[in-house]
Amino acid sequence: MVKKALVLGGGFAGLVLWRALLREERIEAVLVDQNNYHIFQPLLYQVATGELESSAVTRTFRDIAHRRTGGFILGEVTAIDLAAGTVTLDPSRILTFDYLYITLGTITNFFGNENLQCLAMDLKNAEAAEQARSRIAYALERAAACTDPESCRAWLTFSVAGGGPAGVEFCCSLAQRLHRTIEMEYPSLDPRDLRIALIQGGPHLLEGMEDPAPAAAAKKLASLGVEIFYNHRVTGFDGETIHCCGENQQPVSLPARTLVWTAGVHPPEVIGRVAAPKTHDGRLVTDPHLRIPGYDNIFVAGDLAGNDRGLCWPQTAPFAIQSARHALRVTRAMLDRKPLPEPFSYSDPGNMVTLGRFDAICIFPRFSLQFRGISAWMAWILLHLYRIMGMRNRFTALLDWFQDYALRDYTGSRIDSTTISWGKKLRETCRKS
Ligand SMILES: Cc1cc2nc3c(=O)[nH]c(=O)nc-3n(C[C@H](O)[C@H](O)[C@H](O)COP(=O)(O)OP(=O)(O)OC[C@H]3O[C@@H](n4cnc5c(N)ncnc54)[C@H](O)[C@@H]3O)c2cc1C
Repeated sequence: MVKKALVLGGGFAGLVLWRALLREERIEAVLVDQNNYHIFQPLLYQVATGELESSAVTRTFRDIAHRRTGGFILGEVTAIDLAAGTVTLDPSRILTFDYLYITLGTITNFFGNENLQCLAMDLKNAEAAEQARSRIAYALERAAACTDPESCRAWLTFSVAGGGPAGVEFCCSLAQRLHRTIEMEYPSLDPRDLRIALIQGGPHLLEGMEDPAPAAAAKKLASLGVEIFYNHRVTGFDGETIHCCGENQQPVSLPARTLVWTAGVHPPEVIGRVAAPKTHDGRLVTDPHLRIPGYDNIFVAGDLAGNDRGLCWPQTAPFAIQSARHALRVTRAMLDRKPLPEPFSYSDPGNMVTLGRFDAICIFPRFSLQFRGISAWMAWILLHLYRIMGMRNRFTALLDWFQDYALRDYTGSRIDSTTISWGKKLRETCRKS
């Protein structure tokens, strides 16, 4: 008998599961996502800085599945009832399943601060990254139109909250881009008025990453003129001033009109309502085979998978892919009525972080290998080209990068003026609300 498999969320984990399950004859696989496209999140910061167009990092699920399109439903998951074996979607629809895979990922954590949620930009999806790019373009134009030097400096102050990989990569790219854009396209602006501030809650950048990555990132950012505020927590933003709690709990304020938020993620609301044990950070606790304890047919993979065995699984693409592959192996063993494979164990492939154009750092502890500079940057480019979904996206990314890195003197900044109206609209919407 054909079993019904429901995959909730088509990110890194969900896509691995759905594509493999679509090929299984014994399974009817259905993917549910609130968007009709998959997003390659690690490159969203480049959409925000104009290095890539969003078409390079998104691909529709129907395109990915080719002719097997019956297996996708557009909808937001609003409830998961484990005991009843149902999933509720908005627009109203109730789905049942034989196997369920919860791979809804995470959302940006603004720590309940509504002003931050409204006025800060995040980089969690393609729309948000385009809005950030639009806001950057808008800020430059407002600075160029200012007659008051203080106001001009505030428009030229760009702040980034969060010194993890996304914040560091974004800051390096932003600093290089803004210096170049001002030099090429805004002769009336004084480049010395440009200020980029990276606000980091802890005492180091890239926390959890092996040496020498944190020190290398700090050195590179300093060389690009980025100011780093360590041990500072953003407590508020009104669109004109960022309020922080600094070292020794001192209040610190920074006049800035643009704030990009990369300071944390948490599970979507719907996960909070699932009647199952959670970890301290709200992930779903799983058994050694990534199933919710007591439900052998319900798996959790990717950013949402947690455990209560003292292991801290990373919220990264490699983890999402490996956890999804394990869930698949267990499903196949269950279908074949064979013994289950060995319990899941994560194998860390290492880390790569870009530090702007032609510079990156790669650390592969398993092979005692680390390298920096253009070779690391090339390795990063090749890996990401390989990982981007589909030939058309790879080609688009390659073309965008070629234009940006090789022809940039001829193609301009690409923080283009066509996006400005969006940045303006966004500010007005926030003001009204
Ligand atoms: C800016 C940024 C940069 C990153 N850079 C890196 C990097 O360089 N390297 C790395 O390894 N990792 C990176 N990560 C982390 C990595 O992207 C995540 O760990 C990975 O995407 C997790 O995969 P996932 O499948 O669990 O969830 P996701 O990829 O987040 O997918 C979740 C899916 O669920 C859908 N969804 C969510 N809620 C609902 C709902 N209620 N109803 C319906 N659908 C829903 C979403 O639309 C999405 O398609 C980065 C993340 C961000 C945000």
